[in-house]
Amino acid sequence: MSRIAYVNGRFQRHDLAAVHIEDRGFQFADAIYEVWAVRKGELLDAEGHFDRLDRSLGELRIPHPATRAALTILIRELIRRNRISDGLVYLQISRGRARRDHGFPPPGTRPTLVLTTKRLDLDAVARRAEQGVSVISVPDQRWARCDIKTVNLLPNTLAKQAARDAGAYEAWQVDADGFVTEGTSSNAWILTADGALVTRPADHAILHGITRATLIRTATAAGYRLEERPFTIAEALEAREAFLTSATNFVMPVTRIDGRPVANGEPGSVSAELRQAYLAAV
Ligand code: PMP
Repeated sequence: MSRIAYVNGRFQRHDLAAVHIEDRGFQFADAIYEVWAVRKGELLDAEGHFDRLDRSLGELRIPHPATRAALTILIRELIRRNRISDGLVYLQISRGRARRDHGFPPPGTRPTLVLTTKRLDLDAVARRAEQGVSVISVPDQRWARCDIKTVNLLPNTLAKQAARDAGAYEAWQVDADGFVTEGTSSNAWILTADGALVTRPADHAILHGITRATLIRTATAAGYRLEERPFTIAEALEAREAFLTSATNFVMPVTRIDGRPVANGEPGSVSAELRQAYLAAV
């Protein structure tokens, strides 16, 4: 069965699907994206991701190509056509196709809408969570509006490749003051020795992770103390536990940072508990 993508009003074969060379996403990274995890054919945290999509479009003044109801129908149809049980849905909206010019194209230019799906082996993700993952630290080289989910991901791709080259799973980016901002495609957390969950505030330096937001609600409801403040790599190495969150990793224990163990180097019980609590919540 061939994979199916959706591009500007048409379901088409994934390997033949294309946008124009003067699409502003291709020319300027003038585009936003969103990713939903799919479990048993259902979108997880659907409305949270739609809300962030609306915010990203609003911040960049890109018109909505379709209503939320219409997008939901398209996404469900794409999941059905690709027979996705466990996986993800990727959505990208660019400012559209226009003669190359940095300023915005004329009003009425139709935004480009692309939807794709990918299968994921969630059992493999769960096995990885039992082992824990390594991260490396890298300087954060990104722009000043990381809260907008744009496809402008070159620093993230370079940092992720640096992690892979080092045999690590993720790179934690560190700002000019020495504080961790976030991973290349995940948010960063620690559990301090005195039992507080610490994660960076949702300012302009990080993507406001939907998993992060859901986990904050879930963990505080379960009685955990939350401190939304920046932390350093040194503090993370002293922490009781560390973990990362994202739509497709859920809660993933971090057991090594820059080759050094976090606590005893084993995944902690709180990360495991929060992972289960998150999965139950969504
Ligand atoms: N930060 C960045 C830079 C990301 O790309 C992602 C993944 N979209 C996240 C954090 C986690 O966000 P979410 O929980 O919404 O997947």
